[in-house]
Parts: sequence; structure tokens; C-alpha cells
Amino acid sequence: MIAHSKPSLDQSDYAEVLRVLESGLIAQGSEVRKFEDSLASTVGVKYAAAVGSGSAALYLALAALGVGRGDEVVIPSYVCSALLYAVRRLDAVPVPADIDPETYNIDPTEIRRRLTRKTKCVIIPHMFGLPADMEPILSAGIPVVEDCALAVGSRYGEKPVGSMGVLSVFSFYATKMLTTGEGGMVLSNDSTLIETVKDLREYDGKMYDGTVRCNCKLTDFQAALGISQLKKLPSFIEKRKRIAAVYTQALAGAGLPTPIVPKGRDHVFYRYVISAPSPRWGVWLRERGIECRKPVFHPLHCQLGLTGFPHSQAAWERSLSIPLYPALKDEEVAYIASLLPEMKDYR
Ligand SMILES: *Cc1c(COP(=O)(O)O)cnc(C)c1O
Repeated sequence: MIAHSKPSLDQSDYAEVLRVLESGLIAQGSEVRKFEDSLASTVGVKYAAAVGSGSAALYLALAALGVGRGDEVVIPSYVCSALLYAVRRLDAVPVPADIDPETYNIDPTEIRRRLTRKTKCVIIPHMFGLPADMEPILSAGIPVVEDCALAVGSRYGEKPVGSMGVLSVFSFYATKMLTTGEGGMVLSNDSTLIETVKDLREYDGKMYDGTVRCNCKLTDFQAALGISQLKKLPSFIEKRKRIAAVYTQALAGAGLPTPIVPKGRDHVFYRYVISAPSPRWGVWLRERGIECRKPVFHPLHCQLGLTGFPHSQAAWERSLSIPLYPALKDEEVAYIASLLPEMKDYR
């Protein structure tokens, strides 16, 4: 079976983790600070706070913005549940918005429709590696938290993803663009916001003053792995794009639809998502040893019991993600590409 996703690790990663383990200084320390500086400079943002997961990054970013009870936070419906939980953890109200059916990203018009006096901010994930349509979103004038879990290294025009919002969040889960096993980061050009995140991520040595802190720190051996992975990000992205081009050629050659990349936007292909007219496509590929997945578990509007999200619903019903990651072997890519054109006979 060809796995749907896998981390891309090698000897250089192992050596870095081992070096830190052998030093005996393994909790949050100088490696974490180095990792923060490295990602901040890669993204072109001034300040960074490393945390224990992408979920923690989301929660702490919202907390730093002062999101609290009754505040509304606009998020896409078609996204992972981490966004919903981050909003609910602060007793705020998640307000799902529908997506653009062509790009799977949140639809800026849908955001505008859902703004009220209670809207505190909007979270914008760049779905599957393609930046969202940022210009109309930024011009709406509400604070934007960019969720770069799936798109670190991508660009919107000249601007790196993660440099446009008031805050941006990242995840380093095992199979994301970069990994530290579990891990996350919050970036911002606002030093006060990042200082708040750093205060909230650790409780030790602080008097209780009404502020609710947690332990959401990253360890130095994870950070060393993160630095090692970050050095390889350009080659990871190049490999992802190369594989995507092979799949696109195979599908287009058979007259099948391929992922849409609007002008001026870079797609780093965290996922290669096919719009499958029938669930049989996934079954058919699995029978031939290719593990496929729905790239989003369940749209948030379903989980919240809401209706009126036709594009999120359709995306959930049709979308099928096929294996694409830097550790994929050339033979595996060729095998997958050889099967794609045959799917057109399965409806
Ligand atoms: C994975 C992911 C998260 C959550 O990150 P974890 O590290 O798994 O907590 C948040 N947002 C998006 C878009 C993600 O893909």
C-alpha cells in the first residue's frame, strides 16, 4: 500500500535531534529561540513564539487578540476542526463561511455577509497549499489570523504566506509541510501580541493574576528537528510541485479536471485534491494499493448543525486526496500517475 501521507525525515534530522538529546538540555531553550528566528526570517515577519501544536498556536493567537466570551470569529466551514475548538476554548462563537468551489479557500464575499458588530477576527487557512484570496479579505478591515499549517513557503503575489495577517499560525504535526512530531508557532510583526503568546504558553514562576496560562511549550529537540526541516523546505516544495505536475499532466491528458491555481498565487501542493464524481474512485485506487483520503474530516457547518453551505458540502462529498509528499518514491509517483487516466471510466 502506498501511504497517503508520511513525514520526510533523513539522517541530518536524526543527527540534530540526537545532538540536542546528548546535550542534556532538552526542554524549551536556545534551540527553540533559533527555530523561532529561522521561521520568522523565512516568512519575513519580526517576532515568533513556538508552541506545542498548531491547535495551541490558534488558541493562543486568538487569546492574544483578546477574543473572549460572545465574540464572533469567522472561519471557513471546509477546514479541520482545530479552528472550531480554538474558538470554543475561549467561549467565542465560531461563524462558518462557505468556500470558493474552485480553490477550496474561504470565499471573501461569504466573509463580508457574515460580519456583525460582534466580529472580532477572521481565521484564514490557505487550503491544501494554495493561498486564499487575501486582497479582498484584508480590505474588509477586520483583523486576520492566517493559518499557514498547509502552506508554509507559499506566496500570494510577492508576499509570503504568513506575512499578511496581524498574526499567523503554523503546525508541525508529523505529516505537515515541516515536522517536529507535534508542534506549532505564532508569528507577528506586533511584539506585544507575541509577548502575550509567550506569557500564556508557560505558567512557571508567575503569580496568578487572573490570566489563564497553560503549558504549551515546544522542546529543544523538537526545535532542532524543525530547524533541520526548515532548511529543506525549498527542496520539499520543489519535489511537491514536481509530483503535482506529473499528476496534472496525467489527469489533463485524459480530459479530467485538475487543481486550479489562480494567477499570482503559488501552490505548494500540501495536498493534491481531485474532484471525484463518484466515491468509487477512492475505492478503485485503494484496491490498487493507493491510500486515498477525504482531506477534511467533516465540514464545520455539519458539526454545528447548520445548513446553507453548498460549496463546502460538495467539496466534502467529492474531494479525494491522493498521496503527495517529498518522501514519495519516483516509481510510486509514476504508478499513481499511470492509474489516474483510467478513472475517467468510473462514474
Ligand atoms: C493541522 C492543522 C491545524 C492544527 O494543527 P495541530 O498541530 O494538528 O494541532 C490547524 N489548522 C490547519 C489548517 C491544519 O491543517
